[in-house]
Amino acid sequence: MSINKVGVVGCGLMGSGIVQVIAQKGVPVVFREVDDECVEKGLNRIRKFLSAGVERGKITRESMEKTLGNISGTTTFVDMADCDLVIEAIVERLDIKKEIFSALDKILAPEAILSSNTSSISITAIAAATQRPDRCIGLHFMNPVPIMKLVEIVRPEITSEETYNRSRAFIETLGKVTVTAKDTPGFLVNLLLVPYLCEAVRAVDHGLATPEDIDTSMKLGCGMPMGPITLLDFVGLDTTLYIMDVLFNEFHDPKYAAPPLLRRMVAAGHTGKKVGRGFYTYEKQGKA
Ligand code: NAD
Repeated sequence: MSINKVGVVGCGLMGSGIVQVIAQKGVPVVFREVDDECVEKGLNRIRKFLSAGVERGKITRESMEKTLGNISGTTTFVDMADCDLVIEAIVERLDIKKEIFSALDKILAPEAILSSNTSSISITAIAAATQRPDRCIGLHFMNPVPIMKLVEIVRPEITSEETYNRSRAFIETLGKVTVTAKDTPGFLVNLLLVPYLCEAVRAVDHGLATPEDIDTSMKLGCGMPMGPITLLDFVGLDTTLYIMDVLFNEFHDPKYAAPPLLRRMVAAGHTGKKVGRGFYTYEKQGKA
């Protein structure tokens, strides 16, 4: 059974990238946001990314227009009723993700697949809000979605073979490479990445070195394409904090304990590049 129309819930940092890569492959996508202003913001985010591609000669204006023609925004779930696959990409909170899964479960066709882009929350726990746990799966895209090749497929025991095969085949048609992880907290990527990010924030907090020197040491000393402090700003400090809390609450291992500095920065609203200020400050693009 092919996937002919996709729904994406949330058109922020991740949702907008997911909408874009699917629409670029010629598949119609409808995304849902909380209000009209956020719908417009989501569309603008996609337009901006595509326009930059046109300016750099990566895509033609015609293909940009074609991609945008495959995208529609809405504030209701009803417009997603005919989707074969829905990918949820809203805030990293179990209660809200469950509400969304439950609402979609009631309106989607029985064979439709419900998935989450969660970085750390159990898919089994989210799927419990539905009557179709066998058709629920995790599709964890990486940031920035149009550029990063990987999608981590999170496959709980309750997910059917058919759901896994259909989801994986669809993701591969997007030109992405998949890895498959069990439904354990942090899955594979964040289980390895988050302690590293925690240590980098502790290093700043304890005055071990400047953010710039921490980034430079990992880039030039370890061959990382981006330093951990810049990566935190790109991912979003709020999102990272949610993930750390999920992992710490599950494992009670201090290596996942959110550093107090991170919590203070989130409380202050300095959540990273998306708001123009995190560990670094940002103009429209790049570090100021
Ligand atoms: P974000 O804050 O940039 O975007 C979330 C969007 O969801 C916002 O635009 C918000 O208006 C919208 N939203 C909130 N509630 C909604 C609702 N009920 N219906 C529709 N829209 C709603 O967050 P993000 O960084 O895009 O993260 C989204 C998800 O992706 C999280 O689960 C996160 O853990 C995961 N993720 C994030 C990254 C990253 O690098 N930021 C990477 C991989 C996965």
